[in-house]
Amino acid sequence: MCGIVGFTGNHNVVYDIVLGLTSLQHRGQDAAGIVTFKDYFHLKKGLGLVSQVFEERHFKRLQGNIGLGHVRYTTQGSNDLQNAQPFSANYPFGVAMVHNGNVTNFKELRNKLYHDYHILPETSNDLELILYVFASELIKKDLKDIQPADIFEAVKATQQIVKGAYSVIAVIANHGLLAFTDPHGIRPLVLGRQDSKEGSLYGFASESACFDYLGYELVRDLEAGEIIYIDNNLRLHTSDGYRLEKAFCIFEHIYFAREDSIIQQRLVAAERVKMGRMLANKVKAAGLQPDIVIDVPTSGYFAASGLAEALGIPYRRGFVKNSFIGRSFISPTQKEREEVVKKKLNPIKAVVKGKRVAVVDDSIVRGTTSKRIVKMLRNAGATEVYFISAAPPITNPCVYGIDMAISTELIASSKTHEEICNYIGSDALVYQTIEDLQQLYKTLPCCYACFTGKYPVEDSDKLLSEIEQERMEAKA
Ligand code: SF4
Repeated sequence: MCGIVGFTGNHNVVYDIVLGLTSLQHRGQDAAGIVTFKDYFHLKKGLGLVSQVFEERHFKRLQGNIGLGHVRYTTQGSNDLQNAQPFSANYPFGVAMVHNGNVTNFKELRNKLYHDYHILPETSNDLELILYVFASELIKKDLKDIQPADIFEAVKATQQIVKGAYSVIAVIANHGLLAFTDPHGIRPLVLGRQDSKEGSLYGFASESACFDYLGYELVRDLEAGEIIYIDNNLRLHTSDGYRLEKAFCIFEHIYFAREDSIIQQRLVAAERVKMGRMLANKVKAAGLQPDIVIDVPTSGYFAASGLAEALGIPYRRGFVKNSFIGRSFISPTQKEREEVVKKKLNPIKAVVKGKRVAVVDDSIVRGTTSKRIVKMLRNAGATEVYFISAAPPITNPCVYGIDMAISTELIASSKTHEEICNYIGSDALVYQTIEDLQQLYKTLPCCYACFTGKYPVEDSDKLLSEIEQERMEAKA
């Protein structure tokens, strides 16, 4: 999971990019980067948060009316500066690129680039492969007179060669801004527009919340495989691209995306409230009678409020979160994750003491965070703790850009419901069901692979085995 933005208009776009990236910081905290184009590419990237990487002096250098930004959450390649995005190539034409997702035929593509085009990628970041495949296709066209149709053909060929989940934004030097998604449309990408006296300004972003800050209007999501190209005269061109069955990542709505974002025409906050309401019947069926509902801040909030409303009992804030410590789910190592949880949350004793508490979290991955939360609530005086997961049991890893864990680390892949409940130490455990989730999303074809093991992209199982093998070897 990463956050990407791209803007083109009639003014210097660097401030739009940096503000956009700040609003997408929750999607990645490992590195941040910006590239703009004026005569040549101006690039600045570094490790850490947007506010740590960029200073005012950088903005003077990052000139141009077109540019891209990226915040990185490492899923492919090591977490070092070399792998930070954006990437660019300057010969035989200039192209810069950012992406969010994960290429699943990574090894095959590296070999193909080397054997077919004599290109040896310099990094272990999969974006470099997308960039070179696209460049190798566009180079087949008349570079002196690149037309939108040429770009669409090059992207379509790229989409057929590159497997996996990817939303991409690119600047083609002296030509325009390009955006496309993988054929299944797994990762989100939205188009925004701002109308001014001088004409329309356009932007692409992982999430619409970014546009709210900038005064852009959300136009729409990119469909699975869709390509949008905005030329230097700010004319918009679209193509269906290479399209397969849509499989939007359901976890964007459960956990990843910001609550104020509208993705796939659904407000994320409202979807989470519905997920919470759906949990009420399961709580009742289990014979549970909580006094209050609390959330694990902050991604459990809307589901908790939906559950409390449906049960007719109060929602209370049971934890205070220290927002200056990163999200536990995306901290790289297990030890770091545990440390983050310990420092991040503090229960409010007066709220939970003497109460039967239903605590709602977005999901249960390894179970270590849930266990710590239950323990904190008991120590704070809760008489009973019912752990409620807004997501169904996660039984399979994600190979599309979410570094959840390998199968053996996912608690629900090997333990029964009762065993999980015992492990986390709760008095009861309630999960969302896949059937209810699919009913809620019956009009939006989604990827549910981390709950079902049915991966939408061909050969995903092969990559999964390779990743698991590598990790097992690294651990040994
Ligand atoms: Fe999203 Fe899960 Fe599919 Fe990964 S496997 S894309 S997290 S739904």
